[in-house]
Amino acid sequence: MNPKHIYDTIIIGAGPAGLTAGIYAGRAALDTMIIERDQVGGQVTTTSTVWNYPAVADIDGSKLVNLMQKQIDEFRVPIVQDDIQSMDLNQEVKVLYGQQDYFARSVIFAAGDLLAKPLRQIVTAAADGALAATSAENYVIEQKRQLGVPIKAAKKQRPVSSITQQTTLDSEEEKTPLAPAHAGTWFPDEIKAQLKALFVRLNQAVTLLVLTDDSAKSRQLLSFTKELSALDPAHLSVQQETSTATADKRLPALILLDNKKQDSGIRFSGIPTGHELNSIVLAIYNLAGPGQSIDTKLVDQIKALPAMHLQIGVSLTCHFCPDVVAASQRIAALNPKITAEMIDLQLFPDFRKSKKIMSVPAFMINEGDVTFGSQTLNQIIDLCQQQA
Ligand SMILES: Cc1cc2nc3c(=O)[nH]c(=O)nc-3n(C[C@H](O)[C@H](O)[C@H](O)COP(=O)(O)OP(=O)(O)OC[C@H]3O[C@@H](n4cnc5c(N)ncnc54)[C@H](O)[C@@H]3O)c2cc1C
Repeated sequence: MNPKHIYDTIIIGAGPAGLTAGIYAGRAALDTMIIERDQVGGQVTTTSTVWNYPAVADIDGSKLVNLMQKQIDEFRVPIVQDDIQSMDLNQEVKVLYGQQDYFARSVIFAAGDLLAKPLRQIVTAAADGALAATSAENYVIEQKRQLGVPIKAAKKQRPVSSITQQTTLDSEEEKTPLAPAHAGTWFPDEIKAQLKALFVRLNQAVTLLVLTDDSAKSRQLLSFTKELSALDPAHLSVQQETSTATADKRLPALILLDNKKQDSGIRFSGIPTGHELNSIVLAIYNLAGPGQSIDTKLVDQIKALPAMHLQIGVSLTCHFCPDVVAASQRIAALNPKITAEMIDLQLFPDFRKSKKIMSVPAFMINEGDVTFGSQTLNQIIDLCQQQA
């Protein structure tokens, strides 16, 4: 992204209010960008059924939000991932401060259902978003008129999407020498104690194979993995392999090898920190320990599945993602024909863009259609059986 680009409007928050504001601002041909710190969709992604949104009788919250995202896509309004910490709204060009600075003639604050109002629902949030976008449109037109700025540039340079911006950040990172910031600091003492207590139950060896290139992220993944394995050197060891990224091979990646040093099919593309720490710990426990208990009928169903590649697009701040990752990787651990890959979408924005993923968890089989939202082990087995 050109950091000096001045948007007509920037919307903070991609919940129903922000997405609706984006649809209205995009429709009004405002040069618009949405900034979301967590997952697109806001609170409504946490509910499995919405009964009261007009014209949609009964819908999963994530699916409702996905429909809104499709409209946003049609208006080519990008959604970037950042956490806005502060703003300077006193000048004609407003400045928003997150991991980088953003500039806009108007700002729509759609960061949550905060104000007291008689009804806090999706429909009222959407209405507020529409009203805010309409006010922003009037404000921007008036400001441009006063400044003599063309109201509609002949050919506006479209803002680069979040995906490309993220790639740009990665490229910058490549150029920046990595300070060894994470040495010995990935796991606070309390977490270390909890993990050691769990790893005591491991009864087989696991090799953590780290596929790296020469990026900063690769070095971070290696440092994370070494620190993790040091919690149980009797069972966990690290092996590093230099590799080259391809369309199908995202780097850095972590692959779990079983006690015969065979690929278990469990793969993490990115660094499984944040909520994904649960996934890597469960993957190790299910591969090398007694594992979580599982119904023998389910085991039989899993073993009967044909070869397939499961992918789970996640954000590290998503509460629901580890359940889907752990269930998928459980399947991979039990069936040697199946692989299950967690993909940190913030780290692999091209993948996210290619799949048009705007909310997580995003589950795919053999790179096919995306199933959004939380899934139980049974539901994932069902999806795999349908695919078979
Ligand atoms: C469990 C649950 C079930 C619900 N069920 C229903 C229902 O069935 N029907 C219904 O009508 N309503 C329902 N609601 C209420 C509805 O979800 C909310 O009214 C609606 O989501 C509010 O939308 P919003 O866009 O204003 O805020 P939010 O949905 O809260 O979205 C705000 C977004 O802004 C982002 N954000 C915040 N600060 C920043 C920052 N500094 N930088 C960048 N991004 C930021 C947040 O991450 C978030 O994604 C439910 C709510 C919950 C919690």
